[in-house]
Amino acid sequence: MKINLNTNGENPSMGNFCSPNVCTWCDGCGDYGIWTAVKQALVELNINPWEVLLCFDVGCHGNGSDKIVAYTFHGLHGRVLPFASGAALANMNVPVIAFGGDGASFSEGIGHLVHSIRSDYPITFVLHNNANYGLTTGQASALTWQDQRMNSSPNGIPEHTLPSMDFVFSLEPTFVARGFSGNIPQMKEIFKQAISHRGFSYVDILQACPTYNKFATHEYLLEKCYDISGEHSSSDFEVARKIATEDPTKRITTGVLYQNEDSPNFYERLKARQGIKTTAVEEVERKDVSGLLKEFV
Ligand code: SF4
Repeated sequence: MKINLNTNGENPSMGNFCSPNVCTWCDGCGDYGIWTAVKQALVELNINPWEVLLCFDVGCHGNGSDKIVAYTFHGLHGRVLPFASGAALANMNVPVIAFGGDGASFSEGIGHLVHSIRSDYPITFVLHNNANYGLTTGQASALTWQDQRMNSSPNGIPEHTLPSMDFVFSLEPTFVARGFSGNIPQMKEIFKQAISHRGFSYVDILQACPTYNKFATHEYLLEKCYDISGEHSSSDFEVARKIATEDPTKRITTGVLYQNEDSPNFYERLKARQGIKTTAVEEVERKDVSGLLKEFV
């Protein structure tokens, strides 16, 4: 487990996470569903706003960083994973959830994604996968479908679409799930399992962006998404990889696709931390360095 819950006996409610700031997402944006499911998952896991860190990358979803009450951080484009991982390793008592878009995560920040998965940092990562850069008004991302006309590429992009799920599975993840922004009950259950996973949880949420994504629309995702929960053993890596990479024009499997519950996470494999009960944050001490500074003036 990477969570240590409900230490003070107070049970949170949805209202505890309500911010007075008004959401500015477009009507019909999938961000609303994801934002709701995250709050529901935290409530059902008995995690209070002061017991969780939510880290946001730059993107439309990132504008939600002040629309929810919790410890929140809104970082640089593509850099949410290093910050979130560092925060988690410094204080393993606080669950950390990082949110990033498909643009930042599979272009500017793809190196961080690679090493977060292979390192198995003890955080949850929620990919807001709307297959474009919505915040910059519909630019093509690495996950935009090839030949789709976008504002930045009116003739369609010449590159092929990055096969994100195959790529993620090539990095030997310990947790992979996929959901759809129109299915809040399923997302809630996925988030609960992801937050409870001991290592890096990769959660791909296919998100409707009615303003700029005219191909993988809410209606399209509603038709193609297939909840595989209850008929799939998430412990079988090869089967999970196979169903995760099926042709999305035929069927998109959703649910927890893969979980390895036995593999120790990055922190648990750190020899320097073994047997130590305190967190790194608790070990920080004030030191008088004035004498040291005088040597250099
Ligand atoms: Fe949502 Fe797309 Fe609007 Fe951004 S541009 S707020 S992702 S609908």
